[in-house]
Amino acid sequence: MTDICDQVPERDVGDWIDAAVRCEEDFLAGAREAQQRADQTQGKTVADSAENCSSCGAAIPQARREAVPGVDLCVACRTRVELYNKQRGIR
Ligand SMILES: [Zn+2]
Repeated sequence: MTDICDQVPERDVGDWIDAAVRCEEDFLAGAREAQQRADQTQGKTVADSAENCSSCGAAIPQARREAVPGVDLCVACRTRVELYNKQRGIR
């Protein structure tokens, strides 16, 4: 019988804690993003989607407008906002 602990390489316990914390942070960020997306798009339709980014004015592709009803930012700006919020711990 092989114990699962026999299969992992020997590492410092701090590495395991760091890895666990990173995993938790990634999970929470993903969950928050999904929730945020659900909140923002609740009851919205493609007709509510902006044709141009409200931040930089770039055209928002039709595929994105359909995929995210009520969208008002292009991918680049949306990514910037999420990064900004994540760095400051804002939901
Ligand atoms: Zn933009």
